[in-house]
Amino acid sequence: MKTINHWIGGKAVDGASGRFGPVYNPATGAQEKQVAFATVDEVDAAVATAKAAFETWGTASLARRTAVLFKYRELLDAHRDEIAELITAEHGKVHSDALGEVARGMEIVELACSIPQLVKGELSTQVSTRVDVAAIRQPLGVVAGITPFNFPAMVPMWMFPVAIACGNTFVLKPSEKDPSASYRLAELAAEAGLPDGVLNVVQGDKVAVDRLLEHPDIAAVSFVGSTPIAKYIQLKGIEHGKRVQALGGAKNHMLVLPDADLDYAADQAINAAYGSAGERCMAVSVVVAVGDTGDELVGKIAERARGLKIGPGNDAASEMGPLITREHRDKVASYVDSARAQGAEVVVDGTGYTVEGHENGFFLGVSLLDKVPVTADAYREEIFGPVLCVVRAETYDDAIALINNSRWGNGTAIFTRDGGAARRFQLEVQAGMVGVNVPIPVPVGYHSFGGWKDSLFGDHHIYGNDGIAFYTQGKVITTRWPDPADSGINLGFPSNT
Ligand code: NAD
Repeated sequence: MKTINHWIGGKAVDGASGRFGPVYNPATGAQEKQVAFATVDEVDAAVATAKAAFETWGTASLARRTAVLFKYRELLDAHRDEIAELITAEHGKVHSDALGEVARGMEIVELACSIPQLVKGELSTQVSTRVDVAAIRQPLGVVAGITPFNFPAMVPMWMFPVAIACGNTFVLKPSEKDPSASYRLAELAAEAGLPDGVLNVVQGDKVAVDRLLEHPDIAAVSFVGSTPIAKYIQLKGIEHGKRVQALGGAKNHMLVLPDADLDYAADQAINAAYGSAGERCMAVSVVVAVGDTGDELVGKIAERARGLKIGPGNDAASEMGPLITREHRDKVASYVDSARAQGAEVVVDGTGYTVEGHENGFFLGVSLLDKVPVTADAYREEIFGPVLCVVRAETYDDAIALINNSRWGNGTAIFTRDGGAARRFQLEVQAGMVGVNVPIPVPVGYHSFGGWKDSLFGDHHIYGNDGIAFYTQGKVITTRWPDPADSGINLGFPSNT
């Protein structure tokens, strides 16, 4: 069985712990690989390597850093199909979706290529007589990233390209469920000329994560994953003196006003709810139908949902692939049953779905639940699967109150032809990313990604300008080149004249 190992100091390092995790092909249900779980000593070795690499990378010229990043972007472009195949084989998402993930990750490499412009400092001359003030940003040192299963290439690329462009060195701990993409990203970075030790990958579980959080030589931690772990990462990271950004789970609402184009809204609801089998942190998991739109909208969504083609991700005919594990598939399915028992109408029931020839795959059909009570588990919890809840609201005010009561605030969207209502929604809604007739408003690379409330713990969003701020520390330098005639003793507090 193939073992996925660590990448430390620019080379493959076999795991020595004797502990491994299973890596499945979700379309067949078979364990095809195993991933090494790092020990504390192995994490320490990666951090020591990264610390040594920082000595030279931290002061490498901007021209040198961008030369590597431009080359890296070219290599990713040349290998995008291969990376997407790795993703499909371990995550299960369909190939076109995996390609989209690689493209969105490359967007951040492209952002990182513009690092000379992004870290440019500020200078104020003559703030006082013969005094100038300069503000510069410098790297932090060794920083770590801990990433989830659902975007095994894109989410790591939200982090390390920006971090290394800023002059830091990086230790990545990818999801143990689909670790190969991260490993390949690190290999390609080495091929692009990134010096050994600047980007390291340690595979593992809680043992590796906890060591990264405790390690005195780690300056900052970026995390993306579920809310309970995000909260844990923030608290433990802060306890150990680290800068932390920890992005958590979500329950994204799509508000549909009566004046919206309902065919367009139904298409977008389908794409955003069932794409990647609903395993996206920006998936629409709740449609809020306002006024009398509900019956017609639910009918249109149901008709489309019943026609979706579900199958292995490497079959070009499949529109949706399997879920990540058997346990997760079964948990997602249980929400359909509990919603029925708790008063929802099950309009489309995807439970018990099998794909011919792939009976052991982790497949689940798509489900549509209507008139879901807000007290139902299916509404209150993050399901992270192909289950779309519809909640009815009489007015816009009821709908916005519902959204703003959610414990999460990652993404949200409004569908309407009314510019005034859309503008009001943008200002009133409590979420970090808002779409107007756009169901998955993931910001482009040069804006930052992040939610509010239980969807993000920390002060910085990820990538864009926030990413630069997170991975650098500011320094302000006040300079005077005195004229000998100014010299004299004055014990008063310096004031500006
Ligand atoms: P997860 O929280 O289970 O795992 C994320 C990472 O944390 C993995 O690397 C895992 O090994 C590690 N981890 C898990 N349990 C741990 C523990 N007890 N102690 C220390 N480390 C631990 O998340 P997941 O299931 O891989 O990913 C799905 C979740 O991620 C969903 O909740 C989804 O909404 C969220 N997500 C959020 C965003 C965002 O941008 N806000 C993006 C993608 C995914």
